[in-house]
Amino acid sequence: AKLMQRAGHLFFTRSMGVDIRERVRMMRALRTALDEKELFVVYQPQIDLVTRRPVGAEALLRWKTKDGTFIPPDRFIPIAEFSGLIIEIGEQVLRLACQELVRLQSLGFSEFTMSVNVSQVQFRHPRFLDMLREVLRETGVPAARIELEITESIAMEEPDVLIELLRQIKQTGVSIAIDDFGTGFSSLSYLQRLQADRLKIDRLFVTEITSSTRGSSIAEMVIQLGRNLGMSVVAEGVEDERQASILQALGCPLAQGYLFARPMTVDQLTSWLTDNGA
Ligand code: C2E
Ligand code: CA
Ligand code: CA
Ligand code: CA
Repeated sequence: AKLMQRAGHLFFTRSMGVDIRERVRMMRALRTALDEKELFVVYQPQIDLVTRRPVGAEALLRWKTKDGTFIPPDRFIPIAEFSGLIIEIGEQVLRLACQELVRLQSLGFSEFTMSVNVSQVQFRHPRFLDMLREVLRETGVPAARIELEITESIAMEEPDVLIELLRQIKQTGVSIAIDDFGTGFSSLSYLQRLQADRLKIDRLFVTEITSSTRGSSIAEMVIQLGRNLGMSVVAEGVEDERQASILQALGCPLAQGYLFARPMTVDQLTSWLTDNGA
């Protein structure tokens, strides 16, 4: 209940001026969507910038209503968080992503990895770790091939609690990525204490690299930071070849974006991987 209050508080501050009735309506619709299976998961490939081959994918949630309209995750995830539905939804996304990865492995994509977004509400849920262990066991997925993405904003709160939780997660064999890195203000020493495996450069900073001078871009600093701390780095939202070659020249190992592939269904992913040399 305390959790919900916190999330709720955040939610209402963010949505001030937005019609509450509209939010309530969406909350009900989301409950129905979950029951009626209007939610599904798409996968966006992650590419090794040197070999230009896919090495993994990020699972992204989609909501297509009965009348065929897509509601973007940026709109419905805050509502799922506020209503607590994210606990159930998030578990389903994780389980599905693990099942699909097991299937991809059986097709021969044995080195492939799967990244799954975890909301701060899920992360703070007391059963999160049990749920994770259960899903790993039930799906039989190799934990080393699963990565959880948490945003930098959550990474800044309650340092000791978070560090301990991350340590326990890593004990399961699952790795941790800090999503939207660069948008928050976590200190370097704190980042080091988190022992995350990977940093994801926010799309904002990828867009910026073509306009900024060498050495001045945030992307470049994050790549350096990753190298110094022994962390892998993924650039997100790479849309053109210029961005890709600058990132590659800067030593960024991995990238994700429309230049390479849009998020796609698992069937599309399977044939895409076959065609693109995974
Ligand atoms: P994110 O985790 O930062 O995901 C990256 C977003 O960038 C995705 O938007 C993806 O479709 C989009 N994207 C990828 N490449 C490009 C590109 O080249 N150009 C542009 N303009 N965009 C690109 P999407 O799928 O709409 O998801 C938005 C956000 O919703 C995600 O941001 C994430 O925070 C959240 N989200 C999505 N699925 C889940 C989920 O299963 N659980 C949780 N908790 N959050 C999710
Ligand atoms: Ca993400
Ligand atoms: Ca991101
Ligand atoms: Ca983002």
